[in-house]
Amino acid sequence: MPITALIADDDKATAKLVEVLLKKWGVEAVVAHDGLEALEIMMQDEPPTLLLFDWEMPGYSGIELCQKIREIDTDNPPYIIICTARDSAEHIAEGLNKGANDFVSKPFNTQVLRARVEVGKRTLELQDRLMSAMSRLDKLASYDELTGLMNRRAVFERINEDFARAGRTKSCLCFTVCDIDWFKQVNDNYGHPAGDAILNEMGKLLTQQLRPYDRLGRVGGEEFLLVFAVDDKDNAEKVLERIRLAIAAHPFQHEETHIPVTMSFGATLIDTIDNAMRVEDYFKRADDALYTSKANGRNCITFL
Ligand SMILES: [Mg+2]
Repeated sequence: MPITALIADDDKATAKLVEVLLKKWGVEAVVAHDGLEALEIMMQDEPPTLLLFDWEMPGYSGIELCQKIREIDTDNPPYIIICTARDSAEHIAEGLNKGANDFVSKPFNTQVLRARVEVGKRTLELQDRLMSAMSRLDKLASYDELTGLMNRRAVFERINEDFARAGRTKSCLCFTVCDIDWFKQVNDNYGHPAGDAILNEMGKLLTQQLRPYDRLGRVGGEEFLLVFAVDDKDNAEKVLERIRLAIAAHPFQHEETHIPVTMSFGATLIDTIDNAMRVEDYFKRADDALYTSKANGRNCITFL
C-alpha cells in the first residue's frame, strides 16, 4: 500500500527539509504552506494518509486542522503527527486530545522524526489490512458465492432500509418471489454442476433485467427475491411478464447440453409502506402467490 504524506508548515525551509527526508525514506509527500491549503488537500478524493502538521500556521493551526480532519467521515483515518517547538506537557496532551496520533519536537532530530514516521507507516499498514479483512468478511456474510447476488439476510436488511426511506417517496413497490420450475429434475437429470451453472446464469439474467437500484437476492435454493419500483399494477405485470419471457427464451446450457428453464412468479404490490408490516410479512404474501403460480401449472405470474 503506497502511503502519501501531507506536510503543512508555513516555514518553507522546514517544509522542504521534511519533504526531502520523507522522499529519502520512501514516502512521497505533498506540501501546503497554510492551514486552508492543507484542509483543501484533505477534502480531495483519496487524500494523503500520513500528515505532518506544524502547530502555528496561518489559516488553521495544526491543532484546528486535526479537529477538522477528525470530523471527516472515512474508513481510512489518517495518521497525524504534530511538529512544533511547543513541547510542554500541556501542549503535547492538548495535541493528542484534539486528534493527533503523535508529536515531534522542533527543531527536528532526524532519527526521531524517522522513527515516528515509521510508526505512522506501520499503523497505517495495519489499519489497511484490517479494513480489507473486514470488507472481505462483510462480502462473505452478505453475498451468495454461487450467483454473486445478495443472500437472504442481506437483501432483507437492505429492503428494510429502503422501507424506512420509502415513506417519503410516492412510487409503489413490486415485491416478487420467483422460483425456477422443476429445478430438482434439472439436478437429477443433468447433475448438480448443471444445476449450479443454471443458478449462476439465472443470477446474471435477472441482474440484466433489473435496474441497478432495484433489489435482487437469492433467498433459497432456487428461489430469488426481486423488489422494484413501479407506477401501478399494470406496470408491474408488464415488467414481470418481460422477465418471465426473457427466462423462457434464454438458451441455458451446460457442457453443450441445452437445458430448458422456466420460472414461476408470486408478487404483491406495496403502495404505501405499512409500518406494522415487516419484510417477512410481504415475503409470506408473495410466497403464497408463488404457490398459486406453481399450482396453476408454473411459468406464470400471480399477484396477491
Ligand atoms: Mg509555523
